[in-house]
Amino acid sequence: MAAERDAAAGARCGICAMIERLAASEFPDAIAELPRSWLILGDAQFYRGYCVILAKRHVREMHALPRGEAHELLDELIAVGKAIERVTAPLKLNYECLGNQEPHVHWHVFPRYADDRMRLEPVWTRPLSERKTPLPESDRQALIAALRTELRTLLPAARIV
Ligand SMILES: [Zn+2]
Repeated sequence: MAAERDAAAGARCGICAMIERLAASEFPDAIAELPRSWLILGDAQFYRGYCVILAKRHVREMHALPRGEAHELLDELIAVGKAIERVTAPLKLNYECLGNQEPHVHWHVFPRYADDRMRLEPVWTRPLSERKTPLPESDRQALIAALRTELRTLLPAARIV
């Protein structure tokens, strides 16, 4: 059965393991729990405001979600994009749903900025060492707080964690 196969795969999945830490309040970059997903601040803060949305259900593809759930997840993605735009005022947002390393539906949302000399390239072409720039702690906290403030308005069902 597909559900049993998903459950077995979930037991070995890095994203399912992250979700367990989020649910146990053991994840420092947690932003909010949404009805169909968890929202975290990503680790590539060269793109200040980069977030990742993790689907709560372990599925490999969007089409494997029940239809209503898939649409609700997309509504959450749209609200998160809007929140990031309001907080960071980027030139453009990049949405990516890849899953080559972790085949569990998750969306990367990257703000792209005008002063990025590689702004016409996909984010992944930038060397990992440059991408994975941490923010100063005060800025990290201010950014998370601002995103939460916007999310409360855009998605009242968001539970701030
Ligand atoms: Zn998983």
